[in-house]
Amino acid sequence: MTNNKLALTQGNTERAIIIGGSMGGLLTASVLSEYFTEVLIIERDELPEKPMDRVGTPQGFHPHRFTPRLKIILERLFPGYNDVLLENGASELLNKYVCQINQYGKITIGPNPRKDTACSRALMEWTIREYVKKISNVRFLVKHDVIGLQTTADHTTVTGVHLRDRTLKQEKTLTADMVFDISGRGSKLVPWLQQFGYEVPTPDRLKVALAYSTRRFRIPAHLAEKWDVIRIAGHPSTETFTGVLSTIENDVAEVLLYGLGGRYPSTKPDEYLQEAARLSNPLIAEVIQELEPITAPRGFRVPELIRQRFEQMERWPAGLLVLGDAFCNVDPIFGQGITMASVEAEMLEKCLQEQKKQPVSNFEQYALKRIQDAIEPGWWLNCAADLAWTGVEYVGQPLKGIDFASKYLEIYLKHATVQQNLKQYGMYWAVNTLLFSPRVLFNPEMIASVMASASTKDRQWYNEQTQGTGQFTDLQLEERIPSFSRANFIELSPQR
Ligand SMILES: Cc1cc2nc3c(=O)[nH]c(=O)nc-3n(C[C@H](O)[C@H](O)[C@H](O)COP(=O)(O)OP(=O)(O)OC[C@H]3O[C@@H](n4cnc5c(N)ncnc54)[C@H](O)[C@@H]3O)c2cc1C
Repeated sequence: MTNNKLALTQGNTERAIIIGGSMGGLLTASVLSEYFTEVLIIERDELPEKPMDRVGTPQGFHPHRFTPRLKIILERLFPGYNDVLLENGASELLNKYVCQINQYGKITIGPNPRKDTACSRALMEWTIREYVKKISNVRFLVKHDVIGLQTTADHTTVTGVHLRDRTLKQEKTLTADMVFDISGRGSKLVPWLQQFGYEVPTPDRLKVALAYSTRRFRIPAHLAEKWDVIRIAGHPSTETFTGVLSTIENDVAEVLLYGLGGRYPSTKPDEYLQEAARLSNPLIAEVIQELEPITAPRGFRVPELIRQRFEQMERWPAGLLVLGDAFCNVDPIFGQGITMASVEAEMLEKCLQEQKKQPVSNFEQYALKRIQDAIEPGWWLNCAADLAWTGVEYVGQPLKGIDFASKYLEIYLKHATVQQNLKQYGMYWAVNTLLFSPRVLFNPEMIASVMASASTKDRQWYNEQTQGTGQFTDLQLEERIPSFSRANFIELSPQR
């Protein structure tokens, strides 16, 4: 073992250990396989031979969608994955429709010209895992809990992990040149670091008190051919739930009800149907009447979202990094979680490439900062959306321009919906699913054009924001909101 720093200038380093074999771990394993002789994924669950939900990912029953950004990254890391998903029975979205309803109106997108796919989280993870299993230098060690980190005597370097074998009930230690904690929301990294005397900053917390209630239904053929997604957005002013109906493999529809700020949808079948009927539009309730329930509604509660600030630590052990939900977890309703983990994995890849060309001595701290750069836009957008709801509270380091962002995004959404401007509407979702920088929506020209058709009251607000000039300058906007210039986005030349 090279014991400590990435010896990338002298070729590959030896062993990387990944804690957690879920989507974040799999994506990262694919990246690391180019840089380490061996990548060992340690997973506490037995990994099922067929697509199945498992204990370690309790969110797996709930809808997980592919965002455009995630599709791009998956196609690069796992070429042909979409066709493989189709072969594995995923629902094909060619010619299907997405219907988005919010309090300003209805937007119908489609028919979809591409053979995109939708599937359960279990099928998504299983398909990607099959790809990763074929990477010759990646191994899985399943039914093992990582119970702590092994370090040098002075705790400045992580040299491996302590494990418990779930079958034999025995403990052991495995050494590694680099350990990656990708063990999700339940990560124990903070106490592990504290145990070695590291001062861990208080994380930023978005106290969302959110809940999902999801029920699965069998879809008759005439409906299966039509819908990809029906999304009815709840709104802070009416405190209504959001409802989403989407399709997965085997002609199954997943219907979720979602509330935040302590508004929890029911998991009792009768109440669930009543709540679906009280969404701000009857479409989902009408469609449900034609479907056959195949499960009871199942709940999932998230009291708070956490963004760790590991990148701000003055001391951080060599040989350790963290990605995915263990670093920052976001509101699931925006479908960003796996995309964020994949964008972080891409950022790590960039750091490893740079390290190979021009090594820095504090690689881990540098990489943590860059991963945090990748996290920032998603977290900021989550805060802007969720803080509009009563009952949601933010406790953490200051968020630049969040009230402004919250109000402007609402006006933007209203503008795009009322005008039936599919391009602008698409841009809203492309930003909210981390394809493009928020700056695509937040630039002086775009803001001015949106505000030109706003209500008198909203234009008054805008006038106050621009101190009567009627348009922001680049500099004023720079002071108002983060630049996101260090995050990694798909390049789009904004129409400016
Ligand atoms: C209700 C809900 C709905 C969601 N919907 C979406 C969606 O539509 N789209 C989307 O992109 N994201 C969604 N997400 C988020 C998404 O599930 C995660 O962001 C994503 O799985 C990436 O997480 P991860 O790999 O970091 O951690 P996880 O998926 O949580 O995986 C952690 C893994 O680590 C293992 N593990 C944990 N501790 C140990 C240990 N000590 N030793 C060994 N193994 C360990 C676990 O068994 C698990 O396999 C949703 C989340 C929730 C809660």
